[in-house]
Amino acid sequence: MSWKANVRRVEPYIPGEQPGQKGIIKLNTNENPYPPPTAVTEAICRIRPEEYRLYPDPDAGALRQALAAYHGLGKGQVFVGVGSDDVLALAFLTFFQSGKPVFFPDITYSFYDVWANLYGICYETKPLREDFTIDPADYNGGSGGILFPNPNAPTGLLMELGEVEKIIRANPDVVVIVDEAYIDFGGEKESALSLLDGYDNLLVVRTFSKSRSLAGLRIGYALGSEALIGCLQDVKFSFNSYTMNLPSLRAGVASIQEDVYFRETLEKVIDTREWTKKELKKLGFECTDSRSNFLFARHKQIPAAELFEGLKKAGIYVRYFNRPRIDEYLRISIGTQEEMQALISCLQSRISGQN
Ligand code: PMP
Repeated sequence: MSWKANVRRVEPYIPGEQPGQKGIIKLNTNENPYPPPTAVTEAICRIRPEEYRLYPDPDAGALRQALAAYHGLGKGQVFVGVGSDDVLALAFLTFFQSGKPVFFPDITYSFYDVWANLYGICYETKPLREDFTIDPADYNGGSGGILFPNPNAPTGLLMELGEVEKIIRANPDVVVIVDEAYIDFGGEKESALSLLDGYDNLLVVRTFSKSRSLAGLRIGYALGSEALIGCLQDVKFSFNSYTMNLPSLRAGVASIQEDVYFRETLEKVIDTREWTKKELKKLGFECTDSRSNFLFARHKQIPAAELFEGLKKAGIYVRYFNRPRIDEYLRISIGTQEEMQALISCLQSRISGQN
């Protein structure tokens, strides 16, 4: 018999490309085009060499405390992990153990089904409506847990808080996870954070990778009732006590303290998003009403796969998902104003070349 019979084989998540060449305009992984505030890099530089000898704080106390104060919660309501991917992966392992299927949308972050398959958790996808919105009625009971991003990815569509609450209210017997990776780009009013007081089965997941320009440091977090967070902590400490490294812990605290810079950066990204959307429309694209740091756009005539390849040849990387219902769309992260101008010029010359 071969060893291969006893090995876990999985179909992995495929992350967006991280091309090494210089001069690429990278609009494919929803990174923030602006650097983090200098206070963040200074906090890392201040770490003394001898501090690296020691393991980092397994409790991530200072970062959890800073996040708790920022959101007006207790430290016991905050969990931190190595990016929100780590937080979500541990949440699957912790909360979805009933044997009943976990519900999430059919078009959504494509890591969800990968984690479900990895852990052997069964799941059921709920088709988005024709206009890509989530129908809360699809989530009325019968699940082993519920998970959806708000705004959703890759559509960028934001669900109103009242709709989010309908889903949570209908499911008191399971954990409901709202993945708010993109909520800072104009969706704050619809954030499920305001529901935390009323629902102890709600977990809100967030990340420093997009709005805080720190994808490279891998910092994500979850907010919820002390009981939920306690369960996550127990699983984390049964898996890896020291998930968060020292530079990430220090940088995370510094980032939280730089609120003015944070808000200025968000404004710039949002303004550029709206500008880009208008320009894309002039070129014959239709865009969803994205409230995130990316656009989801389809050209009325030219196939998305063709545009994707053409842009790539010109050194502009965007994301294309060759999947049912969305294979006519490009997901375009919002870069600097200059980068988006270059994208529009490139598309302009391609599209006028076709007519
Ligand atoms: N959730 C959603 C909806 C995402 O698009 C992403 C980014 N790929 C993540 C979570 C994970 O982000 P990170 O691990 O960088 O926090």
